[in-house]
Amino acid sequence: MSPSVSGTRDAVPCFIDGRDVPIAAAFDKHDPATGRPNARVAEADAALVDAAVETARRALRGPWGKTTLDARIAFLERLAAHMEANLAALVAAEIADTGKPITPTTKVEIPRAIANFRAFAQIARDAPAETFETALPGGARARNTVLRHPVGVVGIVAPWNLPLLLLTWKVAPALVCGNAVVVKPSEHSPRTALLLARMAHACGLPDGVLNVVHGHGAGAAGGFLVAHPGVDAITFTGETRTGEAIMRAAAAGPRPVSLELGGKNPALIFADCDLKAAIAGTARSLFDNCGQVCLTTERVFVARPVFAQVAAGLAAAALALKPGDPHAPETTLGPAISALQRDKVLGLYAQAKADGAEVLAGGGALEMSEPFAEGYWVAPTLWAGLPDDAEICRREVFGPCAHLSVFDTEDEVLARANASEFGLAATVWSTDSARVQRVAAGLQSGTVWANCWRVRDERAPFGGFKRSGVGREGGVRSLDFYSELKTLCVFE
Ligand code: NAD
Repeated sequence: MSPSVSGTRDAVPCFIDGRDVPIAAAFDKHDPATGRPNARVAEADAALVDAAVETARRALRGPWGKTTLDARIAFLERLAAHMEANLAALVAAEIADTGKPITPTTKVEIPRAIANFRAFAQIARDAPAETFETALPGGARARNTVLRHPVGVVGIVAPWNLPLLLLTWKVAPALVCGNAVVVKPSEHSPRTALLLARMAHACGLPDGVLNVVHGHGAGAAGGFLVAHPGVDAITFTGETRTGEAIMRAAAAGPRPVSLELGGKNPALIFADCDLKAAIAGTARSLFDNCGQVCLTTERVFVARPVFAQVAAGLAAAALALKPGDPHAPETTLGPAISALQRDKVLGLYAQAKADGAEVLAGGGALEMSEPFAEGYWVAPTLWAGLPDDAEICRREVFGPCAHLSVFDTEDEVLARANASEFGLAATVWSTDSARVQRVAAGLQSGTVWANCWRVRDERAPFGGFKRSGVGREGGVRSLDFYSELKTLCVFE
């Protein structure tokens, strides 16, 4: 039985200087599956955010500031093992916050969050040393060596859709580079950040190195954190509009900023594809995590000869999804994260209908029985028949839905896929490898998947073209963002 069904509410405090902070102000957080409050979450005020930043600064002057890279790598590996041993607690906390189904949370989301620590331990271990021998006039030489130095205090502002996974994607490289961190998780998903901080301290992380402040965004904990002059670098994942506000805040200083933002990702399904794989892969890319993945597909372009088959296949996949109790292993569809997000998604569903879309599946809310009747459920939805400039074809919905349209030529589909203000991810389905290379080269997209979706390698750069982001993280790009690079030039 989930906590909300039993009526209990977890207290979710901030974590500063190695300990939970007694809760003063707090807000109610609701279980998205039932719509009932299931947590009291601390709302950090400016003084608490200030305390977290000052604590982090102090920690940099303490033992953490003197750790070796080897010691930090060993810490990341210890933490990963500890998280693995406590997988069930992390899964339960993530489900209580998000209503995600237990099977993908246990098998994919939390293991990937843990894997980020192992991956960045390895990336830091393997990072190439850069040295340049410089010939000087008269036969003299100099040796230039590139050294890494922590940036200082890193402010991390995270979203709710993959809470722990997207948090560890930033916390792991920030810590391995020797920084201290203040994290502001989403107000909709505070629990796993708190557990992570407690676990990191149980694994020997010195007090003050990893701090968690809870609360809302603009004009609240998030705003206080990014505006704080004691924060040396800011990294953010979330909506493009929020990214603009955060970049403005980072201009004071100025401080380095990394932005991973929204998308309106296309799938390009060519007639020469493996149709079964294309339909199954596209269905996953539409419906996984209730469409609440930044990499989710929301525009499906299908070659005319296979359009009917793809549309029927995706509609069947939508019908086959099993919404329900997040703790039941057979559940495959969770709710939207909040009443606000559900209303936004349903508003866009209604707009699509009003614009004359042909509804191929879903189209509205999902009727659920108790105890889920008041949860934030939306139906997996497919539309066809709208022009590319219709609102549903341009705006990120962040729900389990997509618009399907027909194309005739490679040039045409490339132009239409690129005609978006976003450029985060794209998927190409074709068995013609020359075509795959050609189309991938033309796509304005930070990631292009061919005949797969959401296959990730933490060593590869990740980020967006256009309004989908600023900068790249992943592999050595993360090490570069979370380090000040110093050139030591020695005359020989
Ligand atoms: P959001 O922008 O509403 O909130 C993200 C975080 O920013 C939250 O912690 C929030 O409290 C905080 N925040 C909001 N306003 C702020 C402000 N003015 N100053 C400081 N902090 C502020 O995003 P969301 O709804 O949590 O997440 C969904 C969005 O994230 C979607 O647009 C999705 O595409 C995007 N996303 C992008 C990626 C990527 O890697 N590019 C990954 C996941 C999600």
